[in-house]
Amino acid sequence: MKIDIIEMTPTKAEFVINDTNPAFANALRRTIVADVPKMAIDNVEFHLGPIMDEKGTAFESVSPMFDEIVAHRLSMVPVPTDLELFKFRSQCSCNGEGCPSCTIMYSLNKKGPCTVYSGDLEPVGDSKLRVKDDLIPIVKLADDQALLVYATAELGTGKQHAKWQAAMGAGYRYFGRIEINHAKCDLGGSCVKVCPKGVLAKEDRKIVVKHPEKCNLCNSCVDVCDAGVIKVLSDPSKILFRFETDGSLQAKEVLLRGLRTLEERFENLREQVSSLEE
Ligand code: SF4
Ligand SMILES: [Zn+2]
Repeated sequence: MKIDIIEMTPTKAEFVINDTNPAFANALRRTIVADVPKMAIDNVEFHLGPIMDEKGTAFESVSPMFDEIVAHRLSMVPVPTDLELFKFRSQCSCNGEGCPSCTIMYSLNKKGPCTVYSGDLEPVGDSKLRVKDDLIPIVKLADDQALLVYATAELGTGKQHAKWQAAMGAGYRYFGRIEINHAKCDLGGSCVKVCPKGVLAKEDRKIVVKHPEKCNLCNSCVDVCDAGVIKVLSDPSKILFRFETDGSLQAKEVLLRGLRTLEERFENLREQVSSLEE
């Protein structure tokens, strides 16, 4: 099995897996979506009663949205995750009470009129734990409205809730194999024009496959070719895989953690099978 990386940025991965099969690609997809953990806000405490500013003006602790909706929106904000540092709360030495090894605490204190953004969440303690995207709108506060909340983030997996999903838009498709019978090609070029992905090009009096990785197997080039010299085949042993992250974890970390999870599972299975009595 060999991997050709097409793109690997902090939030996006796109690569080709050679000599593989759809079962492996699907196992990897399911693992990075459901089993790779990340931090997300799981508990939000709202201050009730009047909130005073420095001048002594009283604000009502309400917003146009129900508290549950504000809490849900906060839970979807990307929280920085260090998988070497954070443990699941249930497995932490604090016995689930919450400590810096398993919990991040944020405070948010805003008074209207204004829009509350994700960047208004202030980490209590280490400023490196600021959320990854400052400009996600949470709620608009009107005159005399205010929001004072304490939110705690902890580790979880996509299996429990989408807010803990480390990989988004994870998917794969077979790699296209385009065959052109050059001896019979009349160089009309209609296939080049009709291709929505810019896969084909006319170079040196020849139609060439320039970007095979972009082919979406739509068959438009086959349909438009009057000479019938193009064949588009899909190759299940060569798979184009892609996913994104919300920035909580880097794409490479998600991939490595997903592969390690698969490895550990199969190792566990192997140990159990080898311990079976003959
Ligand atoms: S199958 Fe579609 S995407 Fe692929 S080369 Fe032909 S026209 Fe382009
Ligand atoms: Zn702890």
